[in-house]
Amino acid sequence: MQDQHLPTQIAPFKLARQGQALQGIVGVDGLERLATLLSDNNGRIEVSLQFGKNQQGINFVRGHLSAEVNMICQRCMKPMPVRVKADISLGIVSSDERAAQLPEEFEALIVEEEPVALARIVEDELILALPIVALHENQGCEPVLKKLQAEASKIEQAEQKTNPFAALSDLKQQH
Ligand SMILES: [Zn+2]
Repeated sequence: MQDQHLPTQIAPFKLARQGQALQGIVGVDGLERLATLLSDNNGRIEVSLQFGKNQQGINFVRGHLSAEVNMICQRCMKPMPVRVKADISLGIVSSDERAAQLPEEFEALIVEEEPVALARIVEDELILALPIVALHENQGCEPVLKKLQAEASKIEQAEQKTNPFAALSDLKQQH
């Protein structure tokens, strides 16, 4: 695929009217819902999109995305790259009411005002495609919980050792 940066803002209805295709890279910055799932903004999303109008007069955008983003590994709490692919099939509509009338093959892309962020087209599909929990493969990382538990038990042991003295010094202070 061409390594081409696409415009961040697009006019979906216009693209559909013109039957345009878009192919290239979309950045993940500015996608707030997606950002909550990622460890940083360095991800890239390759998209291949075809805009058009079908026989029922529905403006659509179809295609697929292939993304590489960084998520936090839930075992070691360090960032890790995650690769996902997803298909896109969106009906471009101007309101919630129109969205409800779309045939099942389409998810709705509600465009109340043009232009919109191109990334919005891929955000939902990408969020759905991401793993709910990211983990390094083959357990190749140190579980942060185990580490914390080990540290906690060390602290506990240390406290048990020091406690008699602490109690003693409390007594001394009282007298
Ligand atoms: Zn890990």
